Amino acid sequence: MATREFIPSIPQRFAGIFLTDAGYACENPPQNGGRRVGRLEYPTQHVFPNIPMSYADLHLHSNHSDGSDAPACVVQRAVAAGMVAMALTDHDTLSGVPEARAEALLQGITLLSGVEISARFERREVHVMGLGIREDCPPLLDRLAALQLARRDRVVRMVDQLRTAGIPLDADRIRARTAGIAPGRMHVAVELRDQGTTRSTQEGFDRFLNFGCPGYVPKEMMSVEEAIDLVHAADGLAFVGHPGLSKSLRQMLPKLLTLPFDGLEAYHISHSPGRTDEFLQTARGRGLLISGGSDCHGTAKTTPEMGKVRMPSTHFEAIQAALHATS
Ligand SMILES: [Zn+2]
Ligand SMILES: [Zn+2]
Repeated sequence: MATREFIPSIPQRFAGIFLTDAGYACENPPQNGGRRVGRLEYPTQHVFPNIPMSYADLHLHSNHSDGSDAPACVVQRAVAAGMVAMALTDHDTLSGVPEARAEALLQGITLLSGVEISARFERREVHVMGLGIREDCPPLLDRLAALQLARRDRVVRMVDQLRTAGIPLDADRIRARTAGIAPGRMHVAVELRDQGTTRSTQEGFDRFLNFGCPGYVPKEMMSVEEAIDLVHAADGLAFVGHPGLSKSLRQMLPKLLTLPFDGLEAYHISHSPGRTDEFLQTARGRGLLISGGSDCHGTAKTTPEMGKVRMPSTHFEAIQAALHATS
């Protein structure tokens, strides 16, 4: 009952959310009564400590790009981490979405189709997150297919360069490992680790695959403007991916936001709570949608990050509302 005493002081922005006697915040009227207190814009914990919340993770990778787990397993992990909604956002491919959708139906979690497109802006790499995209959009599919070919070619060149540098790699094993999926540096890093050249995939990046290293090959990228256009052509929403990942990206954000992005990724494993707040303010100040997630790659990069980033699902609901409004 104590929770109800807070209700008169709740700001108007919370209209649309009900509180049960148990203090549980929900969008529909609870069966045992409860009071309408508003549309929730901020994490409930900021106002009501100890009230259970629901969460979404809208940035997840499977083994259709550089994650370690099959899409169905990613869905199961998201459910186990307590998410009510998720998006599969593999790099430059939608191929994992059908399997994820089938499992999401079984598991009772809401799934958004997604993609993380590597794009170029002022000679820097920016990741454009496309959420809620149609999977049958020819312009997007054709462009992603071309990127897959470029990715394959890039891996071949990495292997060639490393061989020249005295690090022979089994190209057939990498080819088998990446059959039908989006190949990338991670797969070369995994091979380097598995054959004992390095102790971890991170060491593979640091010693052999990053800019300036013997196996480095630049990635073919489309412009950020083209990535946004493709996402919009597929009826999706475009977000600036992890704007706090590096200082240069953060400094670029005001310029990026002059482009027709629909929102930005405020929640991310690389963002401190202070940084997340900063991006939430930026998004609200500009009337942009808010997204976010763990960027979990299973065990491919580090330990699984799923569950460490808990974006309140109210942001996901705003995204869904925007998708419905544009469809
Ligand atoms: Zn990224
Ligand atoms: Zn990612």
